[in-house]
Amino acid sequence: MDKIKVAVTGAGGRMGREVVKMVLEDESLQLVAAIDPSAGPIDAGILAGMGQCGVVVNASLEDALRQANADVMIDFTVPQAAYKNTLEAISFGVRPVIGTTGFTPAQIEELQQLCEQKGIGGLIAPNFSIGAILMMKFAAEASKYMPHVEIIEYHGDQKLDAPSGTAVKTAELISEVREELKQGNPKEEETIEGARGGYYNGFRIHSVRLPGVFAQQEVIFGGYGQTLKIRHDSYDRAGYMPGVNIAVKKVVTYTGLIYGFEHIMD
Ligand code: NAP
Repeated sequence: MDKIKVAVTGAGGRMGREVVKMVLEDESLQLVAAIDPSAGPIDAGILAGMGQCGVVVNASLEDALRQANADVMIDFTVPQAAYKNTLEAISFGVRPVIGTTGFTPAQIEELQQLCEQKGIGGLIAPNFSIGAILMMKFAAEASKYMPHVEIIEYHGDQKLDAPSGTAVKTAELISEVREELKQGNPKEEETIEGARGGYYNGFRIHSVRLPGVFAQQEVIFGGYGQTLKIRHDSYDRAGYMPGVNIAVKKVVTYTGLIYGFEHIMD
């Protein structure tokens, strides 16, 4: 079987370097391009802490895609760049596998249409960690029986978007199955703005940003005389790579852009 040819955007970033490593370590994948605005020119393997691989980091995605004939682009960059990168990849017929968080529903819808028109597959996944996907599934299930819920997510202080993509995705999954309910005291007042967190469909999401924290989320349910907490902790970026690897192999087998890794998990 032919190797899947992969381009990696954000190759110099924390996630991007893990992705480059994962691609180089899998014999069924071939790294054909690595893109980062300021990391190059440097060999992408060296940048990822491995041996030389012969792919030099390029600052221009357009140039890289023109030269590389990639099947799939994996993007872990920043929200504004990721949207443009995804448009560019689709225009070249390259299937996007997007881990960058912060896409708006309108952007996702537009990208879904573009993938359909181009006849290619794609995936936007706010979380590639299997444990986090299970946390979201279990939270949605619990909300059917305990509809009073709040989400607290914890990330490092340099994270750009809030709430996290995972928290938004969890809130969406809960909203699909939870009975309509506006929680809390209707007369409630904040004496400090934002104290009650972000409002989503009747419940609240709280974003903690601190140095030293990696990525955690708690979904807390309240009922008569009891609470239930469903919690997931990520400790290492390598924990996302099995999911990214599965996504690269799946995305070449279907047409249309899927939002959420849970939809391609067998
Ligand atoms: P990071 O270390 O800041 O890396 C981002 C990289 O993207 C930087 O090297 C940056 O380069 C590069 N970049 C910026 N604009 C670019 C462009 N137009 N084309 C190519 N590269 C570009 O961030 P990170 O920790 O790796 O996280 C990246 C994203 O992944 C975030 O949105 C985060 O929320 C998300 N994430 C998702 C998951 C998941 O499971 N889906 C897991 C973890 C993180 P410069 O520094 O030179 O600007």
